Amino acid sequence: MSDPFIIYFDQLKEGDVQRIDTSLSSEFIDINETDLFFKEAVKVSGEAYVTDDDFVLHLNASTSAEIPCSVCNRLVSIPLAIKGYYHTEPLADIKSPFFDFRGILRELLLVELPKVAECRGNCPEREALASFLRKEAKADASTHYFPFNDLKLS
Ligand SMILES: [Zn+2]
Repeated sequence: MSDPFIIYFDQLKEGDVQRIDTSLSSEFIDINETDLFFKEAVKVSGEAYVTDDDFVLHLNASTSAEIPCSVCNRLVSIPLAIKGYYHTEPLADIKSPFFDFRGILRELLLVELPKVAECRGNCPEREALASFLRKEAKADASTHYFPFNDLKLS
């Protein structure tokens, strides 16, 4: 089977559009930490074509990342989506007989990662933590040290 990340230029004549519609194992992202990993496939769609001067790759992708909730530490699936990304490369600059979009796709997905994750956008334990913090703040009002200062308490 051919590599799903690779587009061969000799199969792309001017005016032809090569459709991309595939589901790829997330292994290529190659991140497997306890606080960040990928278990869902990456769905990719889009197309590749050449114009007079350029190679054009148009990508949509979706998957989800597993990240611990910043409040309760339970793993949360964070959906990641890339919509309508375009990559163009002048044909004159292309030295290889194929284009491998693995690196581009990996980078696009990683850029989409949120800095913090939280259960369904609002951790059920946030309330408990908030009331704990209010007590702490009262008990400790004389000092300015407030370790969870940047948590948004809704
Ligand atoms: Zn949580």
